[in-house]
Amino acid sequence: MTRTHCPYCALQCAMHLEPGADGALAARPAAFPTNRGGLCRKGWTSADLLASPDRITAPLMRAGRGTGFTEVDWDTALDHVAGRLRELRAGHGPDSVAVFGSGGLTNEKSYLLGKFARVALGTSQIDYNGRFCMSSAAAAGMRAFGLDRGLPFPLADLGGADVVLLAGANPAETMPPMMGHLAAPRLIVVDPRRSATAEQALANGGLHLAPRPGTDLPLALGLLHAARTQGLLDHAYIDARTTGFDDAWRQAAAWWPEQTEHVTGVPAAHIRRAAHLLGTAARAYVLTGRGAEQHATGTDTAGAWINLALALGLPGRHGSGYGCITGQGNGQGGREHGQKADQLPGYRKIDDPRARAHVAGVWGIAPEDLPGPGRSAYELLDALGTDGGPRAMLLFGSNPAVSAPDAGRVRNRLAALDLLVVADFVMSETARMADVVFPVTQWAEEDGTMTNLEGRVLRRRAAAAPPEGVRTDLRLIGDLAARLGQPAGRFPADPDEVLAELRAASAGGTADYSGVTGERLASGEELHWPVPAGGAPTPRLFLDSFAHPDGRARFAPVAHRPPAEPTDTAYPLIATTGRLMGHYQSGAQTRRIPELAAAEPEAYVEVHPDTAARAGLAHGDPALVTSRRGTTRARVRHRADARRDTVFLPFHYGGDQAANNITNPALDPTSRMPEFKVSAVRLEPDGPD
Ligand code: SF4
Repeated sequence: MTRTHCPYCALQCAMHLEPGADGALAARPAAFPTNRGGLCRKGWTSADLLASPDRITAPLMRAGRGTGFTEVDWDTALDHVAGRLRELRAGHGPDSVAVFGSGGLTNEKSYLLGKFARVALGTSQIDYNGRFCMSSAAAAGMRAFGLDRGLPFPLADLGGADVVLLAGANPAETMPPMMGHLAAPRLIVVDPRRSATAEQALANGGLHLAPRPGTDLPLALGLLHAARTQGLLDHAYIDARTTGFDDAWRQAAAWWPEQTEHVTGVPAAHIRRAAHLLGTAARAYVLTGRGAEQHATGTDTAGAWINLALALGLPGRHGSGYGCITGQGNGQGGREHGQKADQLPGYRKIDDPRARAHVAGVWGIAPEDLPGPGRSAYELLDALGTDGGPRAMLLFGSNPAVSAPDAGRVRNRLAALDLLVVADFVMSETARMADVVFPVTQWAEEDGTMTNLEGRVLRRRAAAAPPEGVRTDLRLIGDLAARLGQPAGRFPADPDEVLAELRAASAGGTADYSGVTGERLASGEELHWPVPAGGAPTPRLFLDSFAHPDGRARFAPVAHRPPAEPTDTAYPLIATTGRLMGHYQSGAQTRRIPELAAAEPEAYVEVHPDTAARAGLAHGDPALVTSRRGTTRARVRHRADARRDTVFLPFHYGGDQAANNITNPALDPTSRMPEFKVSAVRLEPDGPD
């Protein structure tokens, strides 16, 4: 029996993997503070992935696009890729090669991938799919607090709250064990849909505020206004622990509840009641998720919710606070160790001379040889194969052919590359487009560390031997680095060796892992970063001061901007997207698990019956949902409580069912987060061609 953690979301539920009656490994829940002995359906079935018949066990190559793949040995594939990379770099410079990582990679892989890009390839062109996850909340958290850790307190603290406001998060469906922590508090759920979490809020005497998509920011301003009008602001806290309130208030001053209702559609009485509930609670939290963050105004929208929390005196107070619910399994650690275009290990800024000198020293190179910041994820994908853009991409643990916004355009860009190399354990939609596919181990076949939504560093343990012919990502990176002329030992394949180096690289940084040792992990110590060498971990941040030099949090003067794409007569509806309980991210893993695939086998579009009828559609009919960028196919599912102006699509399906065929890549100016959550669309029957 091996104790490890779930391969999927950021809750990182603990589980035991043990042989079942048929001898195959089965997942069983284990005691752990985030899941308290529970797993969701994805966790229970996660071990089925290990025996997937879709597993690839030999490197695959092909002579050209449109031709079939051929199995080859590792040396042949590695020599070919290294040779092509050398040619491209010699002919077009180091930035002609791009690297795309993932918030699903372990800390060790994230770290080594960033180092590989910058040292072995010398490229600045590296980013990862976490840019599409919570980069807006990360940017807003950095701006407000001087530090970004998803939850700056243990998840279990939520259970002691009187009120929790969830903006754009649906944990009842996306991470059900989290709801065990939300059973006692009264919930205020902000979501255009009457989600499973909204249902729970209403059942327990809470509130569901359903704003028009793209109006979360003015709703937060309206709540701040209502709280001030009711005399609920914590002025002593504002004076002692923050700066910038007056400028932030100037942006909120016009948002009377009636004005807010006019723009958001949320009744003024509900706004006043929500402000009263939150502002009179002795212990309260404001939490944001992707619904609030995946907008072209995502940083300011998260900032508006932070402003509300600050005005009520919540962050940095024991038993209260603000936090962001990270989505991907290692969404937190994945952005701390250097696979983000603008960051170095330790959550350091890549343009900070001291950070560059420190990391270059650990890597044994001169600071001036360290590339600068590169393109953000969507900008990188959109530049592939263009004049001046990368001509090759190495892609680890991600499936942007399905998960990137305006996915049809992204598929065209991937197809324009001279060389696409994918490391994966199944043939995802993106792997099927590659020139070379390397078969790699999956979660239960490798050791490493992950960092969950609380900034808690966890040990992932191998429970099974990988199939013959499969290698770890770490070994693949090292094998390529050696062929690119890197000295032996610079890219170790042993995760413990990589962790030791990561500790040195992160020492003194914001996300300081220098005290995260194998012994402390094995002892079960709760290692919430920062964990300085020899020092104590930090389960609760900001209790004494925030991370800005003056110790104060910053209000941000945020103003409403409408969604990047308005509806019109040609595209009269708003489309928004989200997750289902039974699937994860692009579905490349969960669509291969029979029980999960059977439960939700195909894409659907959730729509009010009146809206469907106007389009000539009945429940169960096949439909086309079309935006200015593309079309997705989905079966109509009636929801009588849906907004009449909005349709909802889950984003776990590929090809012509990919919800991201229609989504808008308009970017937030700070975080570079695309506007996944608001697209103008039309709905019509999917008749015979
Ligand atoms: Fe827990 Fe998330 Fe895994 Fe479900 S998917 S078992 S909530 S870690």
